[in-house]
Amino acid sequence: MITSPPSEDSSAFLPYGRQRIEEDDIAAVVAALRSDWLTTGPRVSEFESAVCAFTGAQYGVAVSSGTAALHAAMHALGIGPGDEVIVPAMTFAATANCVVYQGGTPVFADVGPETLLIDPVDVARRITANTQAIIAVDYAGQPCDYDALYDLAQRHGLALVADACHSLGGAYKGRRVGTLADLTVFSFHPVKHITTGEGGMVVTDNPELAARMRRFRNHGIDTDHRQREVAGTWAYQMVELGYNYRLTDLQAALGTSQLAKLPGWLKKRRKLAAVYDAALGNVAAVKSLAVRPGNEHAYHLYVVRLVDSGVRGQIFAGLRQQGIGANVHYLPVHLHPYYQETFRTLPGLCPCAEAAYETILTLPLHQGMDENDVTRVVHVLRQELGG
Ligand SMILES: *Cc1c(COP(=O)(O)O)cnc(C)c1O
Repeated sequence: MITSPPSEDSSAFLPYGRQRIEEDDIAAVVAALRSDWLTTGPRVSEFESAVCAFTGAQYGVAVSSGTAALHAAMHALGIGPGDEVIVPAMTFAATANCVVYQGGTPVFADVGPETLLIDPVDVARRITANTQAIIAVDYAGQPCDYDALYDLAQRHGLALVADACHSLGGAYKGRRVGTLADLTVFSFHPVKHITTGEGGMVVTDNPELAARMRRFRNHGIDTDHRQREVAGTWAYQMVELGYNYRLTDLQAALGTSQLAKLPGWLKKRRKLAAVYDAALGNVAAVKSLAVRPGNEHAYHLYVVRLVDSGVRGQIFAGLRQQGIGANVHYLPVHLHPYYQETFRTLPGLCPCAEAAYETILTLPLHQGMDENDVTRVVHVLRQELGG
């Protein structure tokens, strides 16, 4: 996703998102390399505990990617053939793919036009006798309307999963992301808030679901290597079909080191977002996404909607030409050829998401930027918009 090399030059290409790796991060990985454990060992447990402490969740299960975390969540909930899981149309494909991995059917719900967050009213319309779960996506870093979603889940006996790959560090009505759903999924891909290269985690307060996900990430085997060593036995049993979705200790060392910096980075992201808000507030041709009262936004992305839906391609190209790495998140998942062909999810299924797709633009936002970078982006954007 990131193609530019790091640079100190203020006129250099500014990607929409980018990792920040400091000397102590590198030292933490080197220390892990010199230790006895390279794959899942004490540093993975330490990282899981650190994420739990940060989010307020009780159990954390680290896995090899955010996508693996979503898959583990679907498996833990027992999603299988014939089951439907409601997902928002406006998200990364992995949110829906994890349902398909399990043989289930993703059912796409529309999003609200102001926030691009899953619309609980539309979710309610799409619930059937086969619905088993809802996956809410905290698009751009803003928590969904969890009170409404939780209420729906309760009334219909559904599981509620938060795809919080954008919202690590966010909060809803004073409650932290990680405590708002039955299972909460994070990604540590380099464009996300903190990185382990590739990596992900599911957090939950449910010990049975956590145990199931631990087994799932290790081939479906009932004990891991360390547990057998402690117990002084070679014997293990594979009790179900799982995968090798383990995170390594090298990655976990990086994750724990990065997590310590997250509070400062969140502050930075919020500050930069406020500078964007203020600078774009009087640009009539663009509209920043709305932030709902009671939400503490984690700002993975800064997304604007262009008022004129016909100019996005031209504005995008103009920004790129001037070194601004604008992007578009996302083509609604149901419009990808795979979904149209496999699930017959034709255009018209989620009109708000489809209309939004024509006008959205993601502007650069990451912890390595400063206020001058934001000013430069807004300046170029205004130029491209014609004043
Ligand atoms: C990044 C992301 C994922 C997938 O995470 P990976 O770690 O890249 O597998 C899933 N859902 C959303 C919303 C994401 O942004």
